[in-house]
Amino acid sequence: MNIHEYQAKSLLKKYGVAVPRGGVAYTPQEAETVARELGGPVWVVKSQIHAGGRGAGRFKGNPEGKGGVRVVKSIEEVGKNAGEMLNNVLITKQTGPEGREVKRLYVEEGADIKRELYLGLLTDRATGRVTIMASTEGGMEIEEVAHNTPEKIVKVAIDPATGVQGYHTRKIAFALGLEGKQVGSAAKFITAAYKAFIDLDCAIVEINPLIVTGAGDILALDAKISFDDNALFRHKDIEELRDEAEEDPYEIEAAKHSLNYVKLDGNIGCMVNGAGLAMATMDIIKLYGGEPANFLDVGGGATKERVTAAFKLILSDSNVEGILVNIFGGIMRCDVIAEGVVAAAREVHLHVPLVVRLEGTNVDLGKKILAESGLPILSADNLADAAEKVVKAVKEAA
Ligand code: ADP
Ligand code: MG
Repeated sequence: MNIHEYQAKSLLKKYGVAVPRGGVAYTPQEAETVARELGGPVWVVKSQIHAGGRGAGRFKGNPEGKGGVRVVKSIEEVGKNAGEMLNNVLITKQTGPEGREVKRLYVEEGADIKRELYLGLLTDRATGRVTIMASTEGGMEIEEVAHNTPEKIVKVAIDPATGVQGYHTRKIAFALGLEGKQVGSAAKFITAAYKAFIDLDCAIVEINPLIVTGAGDILALDAKISFDDNALFRHKDIEELRDEAEEDPYEIEAAKHSLNYVKLDGNIGCMVNGAGLAMATMDIIKLYGGEPANFLDVGGGATKERVTAAFKLILSDSNVEGILVNIFGGIMRCDVIAEGVVAAAREVHLHVPLVVRLEGTNVDLGKKILAESGLPILSADNLADAAEKVVKAVKEAA
């Protein structure tokens, strides 16, 4: 789960991470009120969407205009810029071409930026540890830095038994070219960010940019936090920060039925049990020249209701022009799947070709249910056959 910048900053602040002062606003009037309370002389009006690259982004219909992060010098300008951003669609490198509608703003005091640095914390699967990454190349996408100038990134893996130690923070501070009292401030900053990361079960904490101000202070000018969904049950207060408007409506629906669903751009919907088989199914669809519309793992113990929900979910995506159901009945029984498929196909008045490949427990009964349903279901014998059939059926229907 992701949260907005202002929420991330507020959480980090509680742990002692230094952030500028600011306040959230939903209307231009609120933005002006926040700005007045902060006092000037410089404010920054920041679009709150769950995507980065806002500063360099552009609003839909106004490609020549200003971006989603604006530095202004009067209360009137705060209101004016807030009005230009709110309820408009911001397109950034991370939003994709459709962009995201800006519903909230963060009005922040303007910082006197001397240097822009990068600090990120994430779980590194290779070391099995929380890794702190830092770079002097702040403000840019870290992926680009990693690609073009990997030597400019320093990484420190933290032993969970000891936590962050002085030598870790010194290594990072020196790599960032910090000096004097900044080394101590950085140590406090990094230690606080690490504590937040662990306490809140984060997957990513990214501060980009981390700045050094003209006065030599260290501040988080931007903040992104992603939480480990599997640990959210331990953090009811964080769950409340969820902004469903920022999430994929299909994935919200899937989560309600405990389905593992990821929407993709293709036109062949897939319903599979098991993540590995689901990946293999997407691969083989591509091998036969098709494009999967989604990843969907219905899980091992799916019920008829869950299968029906999965089926409806796939069909609610208007890009779907064909469906491939690929089930290996191990724990899952093929007849249960077949019943779910038939019930769902009837309920939604199936209008696209459906190919079903069943194998495993009760496969004959499953096939019989499909055959006797009277629905135009194409039965397949193996994975390759199934993929070939669905790709062909979609092409023919087009
Ligand atoms: P994004 O990464 O989505 O573009 P940021 O919060 O990183 O958004 O802002 C983009 C840039 O805007 C920053 O790199 C910084 O130069 C500037 N900026 C952001 N917040 C402030 C602020 N409070 N004061 C001064 N400049 C800011
Ligand atoms: Mg940023």
